[in-house]
Amino acid sequence: MWNNHFVFSADAHIMEPGDLFTGNLPQKLRSRGVVTEREGDYIITRAGDLLLERLRRPVSIGDMDGREKRGVRDLRGRLADMELDGVDAELLFPSLAIATFKISDVELERETAKVYNDWLIDHVRDHRDKLVPNAVLPVHDFKETVAELTRVAKLGYKSVMLPCWMPEGVPEYNSEEWDPVFEHAGELGLVFAMHTGTGLDRVVRERGPGGAIINYSSQMLDAQHSIMYMVAGGVLDRHPKAAVAAIECGASWLGALAERMDEVNAAHHMFVRPKLSRKPSEIIAQQVKATFQTDRECVIARRITGHQAVMWGADYPHAEGTFPDSRTVLNGIFQGVDISDDEVADIVGRTAARFFGLRNPALAA
Ligand code: MN
Repeated sequence: MWNNHFVFSADAHIMEPGDLFTGNLPQKLRSRGVVTEREGDYIITRAGDLLLERLRRPVSIGDMDGREKRGVRDLRGRLADMELDGVDAELLFPSLAIATFKISDVELERETAKVYNDWLIDHVRDHRDKLVPNAVLPVHDFKETVAELTRVAKLGYKSVMLPCWMPEGVPEYNSEEWDPVFEHAGELGLVFAMHTGTGLDRVVRERGPGGAIINYSSQMLDAQHSIMYMVAGGVLDRHPKAAVAAIECGASWLGALAERMDEVNAAHHMFVRPKLSRKPSEIIAQQVKATFQTDRECVIARRITGHQAVMWGADYPHAEGTFPDSRTVLNGIFQGVDISDDEVADIVGRTAARFFGLRNPALAA
């Protein structure tokens, strides 16, 4: 709770058991299970010989940046940290399986997603009023994507991940090849969560001057790129039941993108194809959301997208996240902003809790 509002962080990460994949994949794939290990100053994530991530320590894992975080792996510690930070509920992203999109081997990608999805929903089964599991999808073969959508919907998932940047070999979001995926998810009532950095070959793209700022700010551009392709290419327009949230990319760009696309859609209408049945800004207002941590433009200018396009996220337990200062951060966001209590309640929790299907009776009441 913060100022008596229910707080839902639409951006949190859980660390899988180290042997989750090497211990649970089909026998012949186990040597290629995703693992993480230290190598000098670096943390390496790999699937067999395939290098998935190489980050300098301490970068992303919560308990390595000097601040004690009890919930990286342990659920009781997580709930305690949430209470300390004033966060009532969270959407959970993986730590190891977040790199699944980079596995181009169709069988290994599919089985990695299945192992993670089976594990996570069971792991949080007693805490569904506070923790929302979020499934990983295979994307290198859309038949497998559709099959896993059906499977995770049956398991009880409401939210599934899509890559924020296209891995090599996967068509962009303006391709009609995506249609069955968006149609099926919409029919099943599953929403997409597109976390920053996912699908990228490497998050460290610039090592020269400005690299740290450039690399992290670029992830906002990745989300703009993907949302732009989904809206302009028509996949969201053709499948109005599909919905997507961009996670940890900031949210202040969304209104600017909506207005820019409206402008071009009208001014260049003679070149626009496919023709959209709604204005880009309407598609965005109805089917797109984005989470922010501290950028305030999305709150100040919320009428451009509608305030329900904007959701908050803490990015626990990552170093760049707001733990344990989330209350102070939230205070700062709304300081001096002319906004109703009802809108604040939606932005800090209610919209996300509804969108991601949190099972919390207290909130429904
Ligand atoms: Mn995150």
